[in-house]
Amino acid sequence: MKAIRIAILLCIISMTCFAQQKIQILVITGGHGFKQEPFYHLFDSLGRGISYDKLEQPAANELIASPAVDKYDALVFYDMYNSITPAQKQAYVQLLKKGKAMIFLHHSLVSYQDWDEFQRIIGGKYYEKATLVKGDTIKSSYQHDVIIPVKIADPKHPVTRGLKDFKIYDEVYGNFGIQPNIRPLLSTTHPGSSHCIAWINSYEQTDVLFIQLGHGPEAFGNPNYRKLLRQGIEWSVLRHRKK
Ligand SMILES: [Zn+2]
Repeated sequence: MKAIRIAILLCIISMTCFAQQKIQILVITGGHGFKQEPFYHLFDSLGRGISYDKLEQPAANELIASPAVDKYDALVFYDMYNSITPAQKQAYVQLLKKGKAMIFLHHSLVSYQDWDEFQRIIGGKYYEKATLVKGDTIKSSYQHDVIIPVKIADPKHPVTRGLKDFKIYDEVYGNFGIQPNIRPLLSTTHPGSSHCIAWINSYEQTDVLFIQLGHGPEAFGNPNYRKLLRQGIEWSVLRHRKK
């Protein structure tokens, strides 16, 4: 009995240490302008448990295809980039096969217009050019400076836990493609937006998180957005550390 009690105690201690382990993320930008100061304030606001490095493309894709990527618990994409080599594409897929946590924000949905696998990774596609999809011509749209009513589509999920429906001043995307098997987290009734605006997409061993929101300072400073991002990072990292 004593041995079992000690074993349980050790288990609890190690789980506590594990949960308190500092999270190291890489914030990837490039290919689209943004207001740097308020953007990094958002990451500063996530608390001492999450530390971050920043890297701009094309250096980020070079790092992703190198062993240096192993240092990071999660990759957070805020890039909008199109240039990627075959070796780098393979590196993305290899990381996802190993269960590397990846979180994609806002205009990262527009990345890699010519790499078809990318939409299966992120769970959707922003069509920059009119594209024929299953018989329909689709072209995505955007609208800046709008007030978006956000509905929590899945309040029980750890990423959205504790959040109530909220409004955010931000940018909507309309008419973008969504993969059929995503798990919706947030939705909106804004007429300029597609209905689902945040989801989880399972790809290989990774549950990829995508959040469409996050254009500018108003979103970066929004307490709901901050909570969403923090919980999103924490959940992604813990989820994939367990595997
Ligand atoms: Zn934007």
